[in-house]
Amino acid sequence: MLIALAAGPQSTVELDSATGVRRGRLETLLKILAVDGVVTKDGTRWASTGETYVHNTTKWDTLTRMRRAEADLMRQYAHGQGCLMAYLQQALDDPSPAQCGRCSVCTGALPQPGLAPAAEWLEAARAFSRGVDIVIEPRKLWPQGVGRRGRIAGLLEGRAVAFADDPGWGEALRDLQRSGYGTLPEPLVGGAVEVLRRWAKVWSQRPAAVVPAAAFGAQGEANRRLAVEIARIGRLEMLDVLRWEGEALGSDLSSGPAVRHLESAIVLGAPVEPLPGPVLLCAASMRSGWALTVCAALLHEAGVRGSMPLVIHRLP
Ligand SMILES: [Zn+2]
Repeated sequence: MLIALAAGPQSTVELDSATGVRRGRLETLLKILAVDGVVTKDGTRWASTGETYVHNTTKWDTLTRMRRAEADLMRQYAHGQGCLMAYLQQALDDPSPAQCGRCSVCTGALPQPGLAPAAEWLEAARAFSRGVDIVIEPRKLWPQGVGRRGRIAGLLEGRAVAFADDPGWGEALRDLQRSGYGTLPEPLVGGAVEVLRRWAKVWSQRPAAVVPAAAFGAQGEANRRLAVEIARIGRLEMLDVLRWEGEALGSDLSSGPAVRHLESAIVLGAPVEPLPGPVLLCAASMRSGWALTVCAALLHEAGVRGSMPLVIHRLP
């Protein structure tokens, strides 16, 4: 980044495409460098001050240790491994923390619904969480410096079964993540069918076919298995036309470099016959949504009216 700034002041957008560092991380980095007096902000642009950056290893190591110790303290508090009042006193640097004798740890009695809520409460909470619609809004514009320009065509609104560490799907979601999104736990496939059933009441056009989204390695296989199941249950045609060729997508890339990689990795492997409606684009997981966007663009360019993403796990 400092090399990029050596050429003169730059905006965050310019630095983003020059370095390929994700926006949030880039801004944190700039703020830290500004505190150290290495960069300065002038209006909307960042400039180098000419000061050399010296990494103070001792300072950052100490800071990391302090933050870890604080996190441990919070974990112990949450797990009730001691008087809750004493933890607060300790966190506020009280020199003589003492047992209060009144909190739930000291008395051993939790307020309603207690430590273990009744099974029907748990079931009701799970059913509620699973019944919430998770809408995937289509991305609108291509980032700068990629093969396509301007407005994104061919991508319609989508649905996900679970978002982040969704409480409705705790165990099944952990199984899915442990497998690296390579296997699909049965309850989540059932969840996808439920999502479709609710979605069918409000969608403007019924999908005419199911397409597995292209993904690297085992994830591509999982997308295909999901599409096969959905095609079978929904009695829809399955169009396995997208292919992933080349390396996996690196993590932590900003939009421009990520889309450039996806545009070279995802290809249409077969022609698509004219369809009477849009397609369901199936994927086991999504984060930025750029892979689905590139898949939808390729399908659109091949004559498909629109792609409706159906995703098992949407990551934050
Ligand atoms: Zn206490």
